[in-house]
Amino acid sequence: MRKSVERPPMIYSYTQISQFLRCPRSYRYRYLDGWREKDTRAALVFGRCFEKSLRAYFDREDCTEVLFKEWGAFRDAPFAYRKGDSWDRFVHQGVHLLEKFARDDRIRIRRPKANLQIKLVRGLPGGNEFVAYIDALGYLDGAHCLIDWKTTTSRYAQEPEGLLALDPQLICYSWISGISDVAFVVFVRKQQPEIQYLKTTISEEQRREFGRLVESKIGQLESGQFPSHSGIRFPQNSCMSCAHLGLCISDQQLIETNLIRKPGASDLDWLDSFDD
Ligand code: SF4
Repeated sequence: MRKSVERPPMIYSYTQISQFLRCPRSYRYRYLDGWREKDTRAALVFGRCFEKSLRAYFDREDCTEVLFKEWGAFRDAPFAYRKGDSWDRFVHQGVHLLEKFARDDRIRIRRPKANLQIKLVRGLPGGNEFVAYIDALGYLDGAHCLIDWKTTTSRYAQEPEGLLALDPQLICYSWISGISDVAFVVFVRKQQPEIQYLKTTISEEQRREFGRLVESKIGQLESGQFPSHSGIRFPQNSCMSCAHLGLCISDQQLIETNLIRKPGASDLDWLDSFDD
């Protein structure tokens, strides 16, 4: 008699689902074959350091010192900086943003130890789980909401009105937390640093729809179908910004520049939620 092989329950994250939606082939490279992007993106690493300094700010520590210490560990890292960017420029922009954030004083986090970097887990059919790390639960201008920090070089679009409520990450976080009021706090690194405080409301219907989307996409990826969704039209060719481009066009130099292979990486899938 043949014994049926039971698949162990899986843990999914927003990053996984969004990568599958963008291109199932890229998902397979990343999560099944273990091809991960090298940490050579200065902006991404700086964003993580900056979030640690924000944590220090709410813990009433010296957040500037934390930023110098965290980002200082990467002073000699072989990052590919964009034109005009440098280690020094990042840190100056970061300090200005932290000062402006303190002056604005629009965000309050009560009990920061409990309300920063909160792990939320939601059960899915088949014993699977969906995990998300929420940056903060706090108050924007006195109103309670779920908050996600962003560091970027360009402002987030605010128009047309209602656009923010379509953001899939905010919908996902609202779905997993059950909280309707959600916000991005966007730290814009530019000549004159700017902080956008963008709040919106996610409806119950949007949360239900997202839940259905998650279940259907997990069904597809568990069936082992990973067709490529290549971008085909200039200039919106999503392959151009895909870390896995080298694999798709068999370009060894691109593979070595951008990727590192870590078999077994899928065990740690949820960790990449920090990259969101
Ligand atoms: S290069 Fe294009 S087709 Fe290949 S994995 Fe990336 S997005 Fe998909």
